[in-house]
Amino acid sequence: MRTLLLNPPSFQSFDGGAGSRYQATREVTSFWYPTWLCYPAGLIPDSRVLDAPPLDLDVAAVAEVAKDYELAVLFTTTPSLAYDLNTARCLKEANPRLTVGLVGPHVSVRPEDAFAGSSVIDFVARREFDYTLQEVAAGQSWEDIAGISYRHNGVIRHNPDRPWIEDLDALPWVTEIYHRDLQIENYHIPYLRDPYVSIYTGRGCPSRCTYCLWPQTFTGRRYRVRSVADVAAEVHRALELFPQAQEIFFDDDTFTADGERAQQLARALKPLHCTWSATARVTTSYETLQALKDGGLRLLVIGYESGNAQILKNIHKGATPDLARRFTKWCKELGIQIHGAFMVGLPGETPATLAESRRFACELDPDTVQVSLATPYPGTEFYELCQQQGYFRTGALVDQDTGYQKCVIDYPGLPAEEIFAAVPKFYRQFYFRPRYMGRAAWTMMQDPTERRRLLKEAKEFFQFLFRRQQGQACKP
Ligand code: SF4
Repeated sequence: MRTLLLNPPSFQSFDGGAGSRYQATREVTSFWYPTWLCYPAGLIPDSRVLDAPPLDLDVAAVAEVAKDYELAVLFTTTPSLAYDLNTARCLKEANPRLTVGLVGPHVSVRPEDAFAGSSVIDFVARREFDYTLQEVAAGQSWEDIAGISYRHNGVIRHNPDRPWIEDLDALPWVTEIYHRDLQIENYHIPYLRDPYVSIYTGRGCPSRCTYCLWPQTFTGRRYRVRSVADVAAEVHRALELFPQAQEIFFDDDTFTADGERAQQLARALKPLHCTWSATARVTTSYETLQALKDGGLRLLVIGYESGNAQILKNIHKGATPDLARRFTKWCKELGIQIHGAFMVGLPGETPATLAESRRFACELDPDTVQVSLATPYPGTEFYELCQQQGYFRTGALVDQDTGYQKCVIDYPGLPAEEIFAAVPKFYRQFYFRPRYMGRAAWTMMQDPTERRRLLKEAKEFFQFLFRRQQGQACKP
């Protein structure tokens, strides 16, 4: 079947779809690659990936494209599901012969929401959908396809789960599809060098963070990896395909989950003389950090989440503030930059722990920070906890006009309004420090490219703070 793999239009500048763990519009414009859709695109001969948000395509535009296809698969998320079901309806109206399927974390754990929400959804491919979609597109009988839920004579059938893919080397290289279907200049993450190219070297994470979406719904709690040779060969190819790329980003759930293998990969990348960045945990050893730096590593993305030891225990982070301090010190010694992610509103949060996390971030002083509202997504232990304890406020996870995060949790002694207000307060305390501002000024003086990037981000960031103050975004 001629197959359209669609990251659908959504809220303006919504970067929460295929390839993004953070299902909301961001403070500063960013776009992740729709990487998950590029695997089946490499397996299905007559296919195309269409990434609507960075192209600013609306529903009418994608419906027009879908007229030429027999199968359309939409990547959906919890906050965008209603919007995506409407898009699916428009696609089917424009092309009544179209078969329409949904993929993504939300429908992996709640496929029934898709069928209840719209009569035009023919099937859902749960969890890893690479081979599931290949079999659907090849016309295989649906009753024989593992991992699929579908309508049959008015009844919803759920076939057994598809086992996790063990041989990840057998999957196609997504970079070939990026080259065929995407423009890498459309993809931008504030802390990465533009343009960047993102790939996964493995899937899943062995850690047990209770709030973390992908391993609990989509990629599993085991780190399955590609061979070092396969990854190095794809990076080599990516550098040929995209000579303009300024860096490669390894966007695994946790790139350093297997330290020895990460070291081997760094040694294999060294002769390629490329700059790269990756995800990591604060438990990474000094020896591993040293090897990664030696192999071309520029920056690590770290989930510090909180500066409070009890909150880290509550969320099963498997980390402590002291491990975070040690890790940060080592990175600074080795010249590795850090983008630190924090969350406000995790279980156990109080006004005092919010202040503690802000002080902790300033003490660690990573190069940049990201502060998110803790969001309980269906399928996570955090979601179950909020349900059991009655922490949920009714309402959508994101603002239905803008796609910005909303706070949907009330804790005893800490209402949603205070958690919501903690985000800009955190950013202000971190970024409006003389130490940070002096560093940014120095960087801008030294490097014109960095100057342009930082000024653009600063402008968007101030606009974001202003909108929040005016109550136009992220209302609880
Ligand atoms: S270490 Fe990171 S990717 Fe792994 S479960 Fe925790 S938050 Fe998720």
